[in-house]
Amino acid sequence: MQAYFANKTVLITGAAGFIGSHLVDQALAFGARVIGVDNLITGRRVNLTAALQNPNFRFLEANVSLPTASYLDNFLDELKLGEPAFTKIDLVLHFASPASPPAYQNSPVETYLVNSSGTHNLLTYLQEKSPETRFLFASTSEIYGDPLVHPQKEDYFGNVNPNGERSCYDEAKRLGETICGVFTRNYQMDVRIVRIFNTYGPRMRYDDGRILPNFINQALQQQPLTVYGQGQQTRSYCYVDDLVRGILLLASGDGLEGQTVNLGNPEEFTVLETAVLVQKIINGQVTKENVVFGDLPSDDPSRRKPDITKASELLGFAPETTFRQGLERTIAYFKTEESRILE
Ligand code: UDP
Repeated sequence: MQAYFANKTVLITGAAGFIGSHLVDQALAFGARVIGVDNLITGRRVNLTAALQNPNFRFLEANVSLPTASYLDNFLDELKLGEPAFTKIDLVLHFASPASPPAYQNSPVETYLVNSSGTHNLLTYLQEKSPETRFLFASTSEIYGDPLVHPQKEDYFGNVNPNGERSCYDEAKRLGETICGVFTRNYQMDVRIVRIFNTYGPRMRYDDGRILPNFINQALQQQPLTVYGQGQQTRSYCYVDDLVRGILLLASGDGLEGQTVNLGNPEEFTVLETAVLVQKIINGQVTKENVVFGDLPSDDPSRRKPDITKASELLGFAPETTFRQGLERTIAYFKTEESRILE
């Protein structure tokens, strides 16, 4: 996989986000030139601190929902003068989007636009200017909605409320997948889709409202953990380094055009079990006072677990980080000052 990236130019949308910034760092470590694009609505410049020191990295603050030429052409023209190698893009990783339920529900229009128009605009631009460029779209386990099939395999079509609070995200990701399918079938472009299950690790925003940033920060501050509903719903958590390895395997492999692949860690926990584990690691003990129960958000999926047989067969993918190891690294991150910087 590393050999693929050496000397390639990779454009990463959502580069200042949680997963995007880890992709930036790993692609740079593999010897790629990277152009990172982000409008910083949920992304944070601080996530790019290391990348911005690297001569193989360029950052463009722009909204990728807009027509691609409107922000990219000038930027590439300027780069062409001094850095011509940057301007032939080999691979696009489209990761721009709010991803936590509170964040995407606060920015529903931006969310559905970036996953639909953003995907369409990027692919249309590439089709016209550089049809051999490979494109990888960040889809999500949310396309399975509140799944009636367990665990979720790629051939399951899902159970999504088209007009619920989560639909600005999950229906837009579904439309994003549809657009990818059209450019694969009708325009013979090399498009790949990764369906990402719950992922955690350093560089998540402490205020993003997802379960692990909430629980870890609540436990660090000796506040009770906010369990929604009875806490019997399940999630399967993948540590970010494992996810990034899987994504780059999917992006770099030969003969994977048109493939849609789940990535995640199939080890499944109830929300209550998650709360207990976080409390045990941080505070050593769990008491009734450590937890408060709140309302279950609408359309909250009752269970979620990836079937990763396809990723294993196609990519040789297997998660390597245990939940406890990943939690310890994430807790260490949330103790740093950097984790408090929101820009
Ligand atoms: N959750 C919770 N307390 C919190 C945040 C989330 O109990 O403070 C629950 C939420 O209801 C859901 C699960 O944890 O069942 C995962 O939520 P998250 O927002 O992380 O992502 P989702 O998997 O729902 O997209």
